[in-house]
Amino acid sequence: MRIGYGWDSHEFKSGIPLKIGGVILPHNKGLGGHSDGDVLLHAITDALLGAIAAPDIGSLFSPSEPKWKGADSIIFLQEALKRIGNVGYSLVNLDCTLILARPKIGPHASAIRARIAELLKVSKDVIGIKAKTPEGMGTENAAIAHVVVLLEKNKPKQSRSKSDKPTTVAAKRS
Ligand SMILES: [Zn+2]
Repeated sequence: MRIGYGWDSHEFKSGIPLKIGGVILPHNKGLGGHSDGDVLLHAITDALLGAIAAPDIGSLFSPSEPKWKGADSIIFLQEALKRIGNVGYSLVNLDCTLILARPKIGPHASAIRARIAELLKVSKDVIGIKAKTPEGMGTENAAIAHVVVLLEKNKPKQSRSKSDKPTTVAAKRS
């Protein structure tokens, strides 16, 4: 088992769509950034990468590279997912907390949860979404995401019959 943790924040800006967890939410402002500013997908990507001690999102997809300008953050998430698969791990569950003043996440939580489950190719039951308002933090013009993931090492693919096992053990002992 491996645990990964990701954190991200983006500032609200006028004139751009608001994307959180791969879902476009109705709001008068979106999240600024070099890519599409999807704070939740960025934190999930970093949690997955961190769990396998891979380079973080900023190292893999540098904000100074023009090719990631306005990029769909799903690209980042898919790279992280590919990397955990390459080293033989699968996602067991994910929990996240969003901190933002507006819009209210409650009415959209189910859609975000379904989209994340779809993107990560897991069941909705293993995706936790919580949202809070930033009371006393002074971050009313930002959205913050905290994400924790648990990964499990994939079982080795063996289709041999049980009768092979004692033979192997005996052979090793002799
Ligand atoms: Zn970000």
